[in-house]
Amino acid sequence: MAVIEGDGIGPEVISSTVKVINAVKGIYRLPIELEFVEAGLNAYKKYGTNLPKHSQNKLADSNCVLKGPTTSLEGFGTELGVPVKIRKSFNLYANIRPFKPLPRVNNVARLDAIIVRENTEGSYSGFEYMISDQVALGIRLATRSAAEKIFKIAFNMAKNRRKKVTLAHKANVLKATDGLYKEVFLQEAKKYPDVTAEESHIDALAGWLILKPESYDVIVAENLYGDIISDEAAALVGGLGLISSANVGDNYAMFEPVHGSAPDIAGKGIANPIAAIMSFKMMLEWMGYPEAANCVEAAVIKTLNEGKNLTPDLGGTGKTADIENEIILNLSK
Ligand code: NAD
Repeated sequence: MAVIEGDGIGPEVISSTVKVINAVKGIYRLPIELEFVEAGLNAYKKYGTNLPKHSQNKLADSNCVLKGPTTSLEGFGTELGVPVKIRKSFNLYANIRPFKPLPRVNNVARLDAIIVRENTEGSYSGFEYMISDQVALGIRLATRSAAEKIFKIAFNMAKNRRKKVTLAHKANVLKATDGLYKEVFLQEAKKYPDVTAEESHIDALAGWLILKPESYDVIVAENLYGDIISDEAAALVGGLGLISSANVGDNYAMFEPVHGSAPDIAGKGIANPIAAIMSFKMMLEWMGYPEAANCVEAAVIKTLNEGKNLTPDLGGTGKTADIENEIILNLSK
């Protein structure tokens, strides 16, 4: 497996995760080898690109990648961010983000849901143009095939959960792009008669997520909506420091915390590593090691329950290294 440490707090949370990986490898005798890959702002400063060719080759030689957050350059004409490049080049069409109430965490709302976000098109397709210095134009892409793939994933996930899928859309305004997604969603829903299919305008859903979190099971959304409601959902269940994700395609996958490089706390040793560690847990499931995955999750939950050395985002005064040690101690128990 490949590992990208990333920027800002990336190296801090990935360092903790690598220690957890080594401990889990030891307990379960897993044949996992780590291959570190240069990517992000540091690579950009060194090579003039955030994902140089040798890094792309290393990724292509691996079966999956654990990625720390990378800082994106802003400004028209700057290159795409690392996650967007990897999602596009390996066609990682589904971004899966689980949310559930965790012990001792400030759960603003009891949300137990999975967001399945389309990962390759929508407003993030990269079709943006400066027409003049007064006018910018962006083109939003929606395809039947991408929609079918994420709806299939969403319905199959719901079958093993509380059997409900909600499509977030704005087809009343975006009649072609979101209209196509809605049409495909309603067609796909007919193949899953035991799953309730519901559709909701994204703006209304943003409110209902706070007011009636228990009414959601699997939420499926195009790229931009999924990105935004993921941060909202994260805030409802304790913050970005806890939320993991899997970016999956047919033959490759990338696992990364939902949070960014958090420049405001980088270098202070206080970043919460749980999101990155739980991303590794999702990777273990994808690799076919459910027992090891359960062990990682159980260690995280036990650590939260014990409440010792929690990081400041969880209301504690602990450091990244402290909570990492607690989790590693709890792995073998
Ligand atoms: P961010 O997620 O980095 O930070 C938002 C807030 O959450 C900050 O206050 C931060 O301190 C806090 N936070 C985030 N992760 C935390 C953790 N593990 N522990 C404790 N607190 C944590 O979002 P941003 O400020 O919008 O973005 C910063 C940079 O990260 C930007 O360059 C952005 O493009 C990039 N980014 C990258 C990814 C990715 O690589 N997948 C995702 C999102 C943002």
